[in-house]
Amino acid sequence: MSEFEVSDIDVDFEDEIIDEFDIAPARLTIDLGALADNWREMAKRSGKARTAAVVKADAYGLGLEDCGVAFYEAGARDFFVAVVQEGMTLRNYAPDARIYVLSGIWPGQEKLFFENDLVPVLVSEEQLAFWMSVTAEFGEHPCALHIDTGFNRLGIPLEDAIAFADDVSRPASFSPVLVLSHLHSGDTPSSELNRRQLESFQRVAAAFEGVPASLAASSGTFLGAEYHFDLTRPGIAVYGGEAVGGVKNPMRPVAKAEARIIQIRDARKGETVSYGGTTTLSRDSRLAIVSAGYADGYLRSLSGSGVPLRGAVPEGAFGFIAGHRVPVVGRVTMDLTIFDVTDVPASKIQAGDYVELFGPNMPLDEVARAGGTIGYELLTSLGLRYERRYIYPDD
Ligand SMILES: *Cc1c(COP(=O)(O)O)cnc(C)c1O
Repeated sequence: MSEFEVSDIDVDFEDEIIDEFDIAPARLTIDLGALADNWREMAKRSGKARTAAVVKADAYGLGLEDCGVAFYEAGARDFFVAVVQEGMTLRNYAPDARIYVLSGIWPGQEKLFFENDLVPVLVSEEQLAFWMSVTAEFGEHPCALHIDTGFNRLGIPLEDAIAFADDVSRPASFSPVLVLSHLHSGDTPSSELNRRQLESFQRVAAAFEGVPASLAASSGTFLGAEYHFDLTRPGIAVYGGEAVGGVKNPMRPVAKAEARIIQIRDARKGETVSYGGTTTLSRDSRLAIVSAGYADGYLRSLSGSGVPLRGAVPEGAFGFIAGHRVPVVGRVTMDLTIFDVTDVPASKIQAGDYVELFGPNMPLDEVARAGGTIGYELLTSLGLRYERRYIYPDD
């Protein structure tokens, strides 16, 4: 038998039960108790208005099923998704909830909306005309109207919507259950544009008297009671992200992303680090090579150096380990990121330990800012490689 032939020794791997989470290269902990608390907090801040849950984009990257169930159990009965497929998935977990589809409807999707009891949010005059022909043919089915009050993204133009509200020739089968609009500067409370949109929307709500109205997403909910109308639509705040700039975030963090140190290496003053050699070490250093990169949504723009497009934010992101904030050195790569751990006592970290990329110790929005972006983008970019663990409220 040659030395290299595979032997037939029976290796029994079954004795040891290994928890995938404890050895995952990259892992994500999602605290559903914090999520539910955040939703209840937004419901409290919404005063007399009902509070929806916005679960588009796989619940901001954190999992439509688990987050959807958590919101439902916390009492949410109004949900917003972006596209019909998300609505069909959510229907399995929220049997009697009202599910609004924010991008509205395309011809050919009628059956999906009727069979899954989804509410199209009609965003254009074309969609409106189409929906009237659908309900004329198949009968009454709830819809919502999105009115543009200044965003210039989706929505029926303001004056057209008001004229339509007064149009007595509207078919009786056409029965909107919600009129909504969206603020573009809600995260900047000092912006006068918020009031301008508010006043436009007040005209809409008056024109559609008797139809519930909704204007505020997370940031709009913080703007105060005038902005609440009948239903608020918080997203980012319930996921623990920052909704309003320049003030302390009152929400509980929900997601913690961590990646494992594969190797800790010594490098000398004067050597360079990572692609392009864009960082030259100014001291003898210890570098932790960590198992997450831009393929895991740890964006290349979080690099410590060498990303010209991020010129306005010279410093890169920080991770957190053993009580220390540790900076990213050089460029973030596809699967790996390098952190400078020189200032962490050598006895306190070793290969196999996890660096917190964002979470309770390293605020999501602070990391996002370092990459020239927002918490929303970090969450929705997480990718498929994280081992996920959900913490349930009663755990
Ligand atoms: C995404 C979205 C929301 C939720 O926004 P957040 O800023 O995450 O609270 C609400 N309404 C509409 C129309 C949206 O597109």
